[in-house]
Amino acid sequence: SRETVWRVMARHADAQTIVLSLGDISDIEAAEAQRRDFVANVSHELRSPLTVLSGFIETLQGPAGDDPVARSEFLGIMAEQSARMTGLVADLLSLSRVEAAEKIRPRTPVSIDMVLKATLAALRPQTDAAQVQITYAVAADLPDIPGDYDQLVQVFHNLIENGLKYGSGGGRLDISAQQLAAMPGFDGPVLRVSIRDFGEGIDPVHIPRLTERFYRVDKARSRDSGGTGLGLAIVKHILSRHRGRLSIRSTQGEGAAFDALLPCN
Ligand code: ADP
Repeated sequence: SRETVWRVMARHADAQTIVLSLGDISDIEAAEAQRRDFVANVSHELRSPLTVLSGFIETLQGPAGDDPVARSEFLGIMAEQSARMTGLVADLLSLSRVEAAEKIRPRTPVSIDMVLKATLAALRPQTDAAQVQITYAVAADLPDIPGDYDQLVQVFHNLIENGLKYGSGGGRLDISAQQLAAMPGFDGPVLRVSIRDFGEGIDPVHIPRLTERFYRVDKARSRDSGGTGLGLAIVKHILSRHRGRLSIRSTQGEGAAFDALLPCN
């Protein structure tokens, strides 16, 4: 416990060591609390679709199972819930993969224009359904950046998908990329890739917490749209593996802009 360690340290150390060790202990405690929250969240997120599934299985085992209309409706709901669990497990696996590999820096030259075009092609059904006008402004002469193609596709997949899910009310989604000569926190040129929507935006109090695992502004709405609350946590980790970061700007009522900042070399 904190007290025991304090006493042991106090016996043979100067004041500075004691302060440092106490700092370490609260780090460990914070990490432990975070791990407990994470396990509780995962369990909760898996339990709710499982509860729905077992409820419908029970119903189908009863007389309702003989009614073809009810049966097809219930099977539809069951398929939806199992898809949700599959999505959650896929996101958890992505997250643990990028977290585990945090120290390894991906370094293959990647064209952001290709990444964005491939992402948009894969999201075609969603962009069509959302009925938004997509503006694409990516200069053809942007340099390749050192990175991991598939992981960068995942970053922009998550950001564009969010823009469609939460920001489609604005009817417009702007995708742009520029090279900046300098940026605080970077020691060379930076590529800024912006995904900007014109929807409801985000209350500023939520912005610093959006990249936390399972953090959602509106849980019910996010879940209805198939969200797990892991998308932006994955984005943050992938960008950090690329020595980059995510910057979020929003004015409520006017939309939100997610900027991925990536070092050019
Ligand atoms: P989810 O799976 O819930 O979409 P994310 O980690 O991708 O999880 O996003 C976390 C939360 O951030 C979302 O639940 C939503 O409340 C908010 N959010 C993300 N993108 C946007 C956006 N473009 N506009 C408004 N809110 C957003």
